[in-house]
Amino acid sequence: MVNTGLALALPAAALLALGCAATLHAAPAAVKLSTGDDRFSARPAVHVDESRVSPVDREALGGLLKASVDVLMSDALLAHSAALEGTYPRIFLNPALGYKRPADAVGLLHALNSGMHFRRTPVEFGRGAITGFNGQRWRMAISRKTLDRWLSSDPVTKSCAVNTVAHEIMHTFVAQAGGGMVFIDGGRRARPSRSSGTTGSYVIGQLAQCTWLAEQGRIAAGDVAACVPVFYSAGGKFAAGRCDDFADGRPVRLS
Ligand SMILES: [Zn+2]
Repeated sequence: MVNTGLALALPAAALLALGCAATLHAAPAAVKLSTGDDRFSARPAVHVDESRVSPVDREALGGLLKASVDVLMSDALLAHSAALEGTYPRIFLNPALGYKRPADAVGLLHALNSGMHFRRTPVEFGRGAITGFNGQRWRMAISRKTLDRWLSSDPVTKSCAVNTVAHEIMHTFVAQAGGGMVFIDGGRRARPSRSSGTTGSYVIGQLAQCTWLAEQGRIAAGDVAACVPVFYSAGGKFAAGRCDDFADGRPVRLS
């Protein structure tokens, strides 16, 4: 099991202190994956939880989920991942898989028959972004702030919402053996990855964001690799404070 030994018993407060708490939830041992198991999919399978999201928000949230899935699985994202290697030679997946080249990590997401699948995941609102078991059920939550960003007229602000959802979708990608998450954020064993700024779930979230900006025409395709570090903090997390810094149309790159 990929995540065996990670801090499953951490209290919720400790999980939230990590920013995105998704990393520390493993699927239960009872989960059995098999061909044709409709709990899993070769493509990301996130959907609005209509029992928990009001009708007024469903269309916008559904649009954000679709945009995030589409860019995460796009050929463009795979192509741009190779250009990241100069900045991020290796990115961290989880303690069992260790580090991989960005293109190889993205390749896992895109591969069929890799022994890895996306878990079907209902999405609702919560205090922050989180994916995993909440003690009762598997789900993804995002904050209202994320949907507010998606509804912004500024494409860079919107792209931050794509980043958050793409990052969370990566936590729905699980290994066939045991169902543990392929991409985690940290935890005690992964601390070196956080300090060195190479956490794959964040790097690829940023890559999805910047690829989406290129698809919108906000940045040039050749500038995607320079865009990625803008939203990646030295602490190994999402630099959300920069989401509104480019409304004047200036280049999306570190100065
Ligand atoms: Zn996370």
